[in-house]
Amino acid sequence: MKKEFAVIGLGRFGGSICKSLSEQGMEVLAFDIDEDKVNEYANIASHAVIGDSTDESILKNLGIRNFDHVIIAIGDNIQASILTTLILKELGVENITVKAQNDYHEKVLSKIGADQIVHPERDMGRRIAHNIISNNVLDYLELSDEHSIVEIVASENIDGNSLIDLDIRAQYGINIVAIKRGKEIIVSPQATENIHEGDILIVIGADTDINRFEKHVI
Ligand code: ATP
Repeated sequence: MKKEFAVIGLGRFGGSICKSLSEQGMEVLAFDIDEDKVNEYANIASHAVIGDSTDESILKNLGIRNFDHVIIAIGDNIQASILTTLILKELGVENITVKAQNDYHEKVLSKIGADQIVHPERDMGRRIAHNIISNNVLDYLELSDEHSIVEIVASENIDGNSLIDLDIRAQYGINIVAIKRGKEIIVSPQATENIHEGDILIVIGADTDINRFEKHVI
């Protein structure tokens, strides 16, 4: 059975989620208090409804409880975002993802039981900062405050070295989980695999260890 999603708040973030889910063939309910926004998504989403998500009876009548996943993408009105999350929790929605506007908002959302909290502006800012600091870092995914997965371009310094030669795990405590070489992807590379200049190394580990590896080796 197709999964059913509801997106509450059709700003740039919610709108983009709504579009992507619809493009991937998912059933999506687009919901916003603003009629213009709802009209904009009427031909994109499976259903589009105008309403105030802080009105419990509207959500109840929509059968929101039966949706597999609800995304709350209300930004500026933090009170409405919190109240909507509370109502959805009380109605028994299984999976709730909420966009947080700041750290206090995030704290409250986590206390009232939001399943996932996303902070797109902050996270994108961090990713871009990483890209700016190091020319070799292509992308970066924060796993925790101290651990990440990073895509690093191999420089000529390590061209022709195998993973054993570099002794990465012992020296740096990090793991290369995959190597992208052109169109080829080598998943869990063998220790004897030779690295070529321009390979993209997908590295997982503690931020301090990844930084050491970048500074000394790349
Ligand atoms: P963006 O994703 O564009 O950065 P934003 O963080 O600036 O958005 P807002 O524009 O404040 O967030 O809100 C996103 C959407 O949520 C808007 O389209 C707004 O109409 C809608 N919205 C706000 N409050 C409610 C509510 N109580 N019920 C339903 N929709 C709401």
